[in-house]
This record gives sequence, structure tokens and C-alpha cells, in this order.
Amino acid sequence: MRYRRRRLPFKACKKCKMLVDYDVERCPRCSSTSFSDDWEGMVIVVRPQSSSAAEIIEVKDSGRFAIKVR
Ligand SMILES: [Zn+2]
Repeated sequence: MRYRRRRLPFKACKKCKMLVDYDVERCPRCSSTSFSDDWEGMVIVVRPQSSSAAEIIEVKDSGRFAIKVR
């Protein structure tokens, strides 16, 4: 299913929560091919070393991440 429930044109990787464009077929971070349209909240991590947001969602890479993925 590729319908858009939200205005943001992203889908979330079910494994690592990274947000990628809809036309991406493989997660660039963990190589998973399992994505979800049903996600909530977006965190953009620019400098993971000094980001409290990165700590909360437990990521060590920069990028866009969903807070919740169902
Ligand atoms: Zn991933």
C-alpha cells in the first residue's frame, strides 16, 4: 500500500526507524526492506554526538528518524 496518510512524503524503516523517501526500496542505514506508513513524530539528527534527541531515540547516525513506528 502506498497511500499517504500524512503530508510528509516519507516512510519509516521498521527496523531502525529511519525516514526515507517513498521511492526508496532498501533502507540506506540497515538494508532492511520493511517499511511502514504508520509512523509518528520526526526527529532530524544533525550532530548525533551532541544531540539529546538522538539519545532519546537511541541513534548514533545523522538523518531523519521517526519516534514511533507501528
Ligand atoms: Zn533501517
